[in-house]
Amino acid sequence: MPDFVFPPAAIASVPVAGSSARFPVHRIYCVGRNFAEHAREMGAEVERGSPMFFMKPADAVVTDGIVPYPSATEDLHHEVELVVAIGRDCEGEVAKARALELVYGYTVGLDLTRRDLQARAKDRRHPWDTAKGFDASAPLAPIVPVALAGHDFSRRLWLEVNGAMRQQAPLSDMIFSVADVLHELSVLFALRAGDLVFMGTPSGVAALARGDRFRAGIDGLAEFSGRILD
Ligand code: MN
Repeated sequence: MPDFVFPPAAIASVPVAGSSARFPVHRIYCVGRNFAEHAREMGAEVERGSPMFFMKPADAVVTDGIVPYPSATEDLHHEVELVVAIGRDCEGEVAKARALELVYGYTVGLDLTRRDLQARAKDRRHPWDTAKGFDASAPLAPIVPVALAGHDFSRRLWLEVNGAMRQQAPLSDMIFSVADVLHELSVLFALRAGDLVFMGTPSGVAALARGDRFRAGIDGLAEFSGRILD
């Protein structure tokens, strides 16, 4: 143990379904505009060349579903997404044909977004960090290991808020597949065990208000519920 000048922060981690062990989080990568209908509802072009990435800090994960309403926004939005958990270090670029070998498991999560700050950033051609990478911006369900989850991208992704369906789409609607995205990330970054990848959201993004209750799932894979604090 190095002689730190103060005790280091705790390692962010996510429960693993069917186990008492936890998945330690290294980085959180996110894909933007991976469903055509969502790109259109945001007034963006549907890009098919290569995916668009942004990041959240590892300690943005929320594993008990309790999300404080974030500061500095009046327009908190939900984006329900497939989350890929990486289980091994990747040496250099990974070929698409071998990319799924990196996957430890899958789950469902919310890419919470300060939509007003994102709109302002887009107008000014500023980065998205304050819109996307804030504290508690990544609530998610326990991670389901591949041994239990398989690699099934025909499942339906959905989100209910206060009992009403807000977003739903089959994972097969994703423009860039998990293999595509892991390959592209491996070109840009050193993928490491502990990385999480939020795969992008379908259409239907909308506001979450103080006190709202949400339930998110991927059929046959994972589900979780939570609420936005008053
Ligand atoms: Mn998103």
